[in-house]
Amino acid sequence: MNKINVFLLFVCFALSSVNPHLASAGEGKKIKVLTSFLPIYIFTLNVVGASDRVEVDCLIPGESGPHDYQMRPSDMRKVAHADFMIINGLGVEEFISDIIAVKKRKGAVLESASGLPLLHAGEEGDDHDHHGDHNPHTWVSPRMAAMQVINISKFLALIDPAGADLYMANGERYAGRLHLLNEEIKSVVAGLPDKRIITVHNAFDYLARDTGLEVLSVIYHTPGEQPSAAEMGGITTLIRKEKVKAIFSEPQFSDKMVNLIAKETGARVGMLDPVATGEPSEWFYEVSMRKNRDVLKEILSQ
Ligand SMILES: [Zn+2]
Repeated sequence: MNKINVFLLFVCFALSSVNPHLASAGEGKKIKVLTSFLPIYIFTLNVVGASDRVEVDCLIPGESGPHDYQMRPSDMRKVAHADFMIINGLGVEEFISDIIAVKKRKGAVLESASGLPLLHAGEEGDDHDHHGDHNPHTWVSPRMAAMQVINISKFLALIDPAGADLYMANGERYAGRLHLLNEEIKSVVAGLPDKRIITVHNAFDYLARDTGLEVLSVIYHTPGEQPSAAEMGGITTLIRKEKVKAIFSEPQFSDKMVNLIAKETGARVGMLDPVATGEPSEWFYEVSMRKNRDVLKEILSQ
């Protein structure tokens, strides 16, 4: 993002003076809540439910993930017109860090991952870190997602007190479903003879921690950066030595490296979806997670 855009945006915010205590849904004016990317959008949709007091939009279109996103001028307008923003936090939304800093000073941004039990970026087999001190992929674990949903409910209750009961009830119900989903995956994993996985990048560490999987290694330490020959060699050696059954590709990454490693080692390939992209519907997160559950069962129980 260029400096002039940042400056204009700053001026724009200064003039619009967004204040959580002033924004209200009265007089037919909806509160505009802008979420950063797909899973946060889906969580917020579920909390808002049938309420017509809040308008929820998503900054990044469903087909793009946050790791490689380039802001467009129309995105800047969306952000400028939003009363509040709900993001994941932990550095996932690095591409709008300047904007978030400005909005944060006005109390207009919720980092939905705040207060969650976090993993360091290096835990679960990854020594590198592409976002910050903590692994940012909290939403990929339904258990963590449920906590993010409750944070979102509380935030909406705060900015629109008249809808508080509805947001809390919707949030509790949806979070309950996510906890059950976590248990479902956990019981499938418990029945697997081999719980070890190798993933494309460190997106599944929270899911692994919360369901009993073990991430042995990742292929890409930095998204967008090809693994070196030495790193590739390290992974094929690990797979052979540990007799790892399967490696997992992701829909947001090219599967070239995964296929290459599979060809060389004979490991099976499955696809796990961290739900960073996809269909912007209320159900998509749960549907995708159940697909992940089925893929794990199919690939790892052989
Ligand atoms: Zn990632």
